[in-house]
Amino acid sequence: MKWFNRFIASATLLLVAAGCAPSLAPFPVEPKQDKSAPAAKPEASTPPAKPSPPPSSDAGDRVVRLPGIWSGDSPAAVRSVLIDPGHGGDDPGARGAFTQEKELNLDLARRLAAELRRRGFLVAMTRDCDVFVPLDERGAMTGRLKADIFVSIHHNASVNASASGIETYVLRPGVDFEPVTHMRNVLLAAAIQRELRSALPWAIDRGVRAARFRVLVTSTSSASVLVEAGFVSNAGEEKKIASPEVLQKSAAAVASGLVFYAGLTDAMGPATNRQDRQFVSCRRQ
Ligand SMILES: [Zn+2]
Repeated sequence: MKWFNRFIASATLLLVAAGCAPSLAPFPVEPKQDKSAPAAKPEASTPPAKPSPPPSSDAGDRVVRLPGIWSGDSPAAVRSVLIDPGHGGDDPGARGAFTQEKELNLDLARRLAAELRRRGFLVAMTRDCDVFVPLDERGAMTGRLKADIFVSIHHNASVNASASGIETYVLRPGVDFEPVTHMRNVLLAAAIQRELRSALPWAIDRGVRAARFRVLVTSTSSASVLVEAGFVSNAGEEKKIASPEVLQKSAAAVASGLVFYAGLTDAMGPATNRQDRQFVSCRRQ
């Protein structure tokens, strides 16, 4: 198979030379068990959801069933990842004393891609060279590729030169947003943040945060997070996070977080509710 690998490598180089356009072919999808939807039938005839009841101290009608957020109807349910190295091209992102954010993002993202492929995930990248990709285009790729997970990789900066640490963002919920989507994102973010914290014990744990980052607004078709892997504006931290050793540790930590999240979804059992089925069929069209 070596010739085949070489062929793929050459084709990839050609793509890069041609302007780094990412392939937008959807990830291959397992053609299985969609007809195994005896459970789906009764629900298909379920009448449309009633209008939300007025606020009440009794939460009974507003409880969201947690297993419903999972797409996990097979052990391989979560397996495709779109990695987004932030910034690029004319947009350098944050600047440190000797690094540019766009370069660190791409370095970490490539390492993450290798870690994930080693663990059996299908991986695509919004960019794999120094090119600018519009924010809306990055998020929209998740839907086109039918990716299960979207991870945007960034490094931080602040006017406060002593600011430092690692944080993972999810989309702050708004009117355009299902609560189940938020729960899914938070779980993924928490898993990643926990792994980063243990891989980089010297770093301040700034936790999981929520914000309306444009790239997250447009990537709601998958579990989506944005990782800020340290501050380039902090002289001491910049030296650490720009080292190949720390970039590798961070990449491995993010990959471990994804594996943890994927394992949880597998453990949660089959899709059972309307939202779940919509999510699954959306991925399997
Ligand atoms: Zn950034």
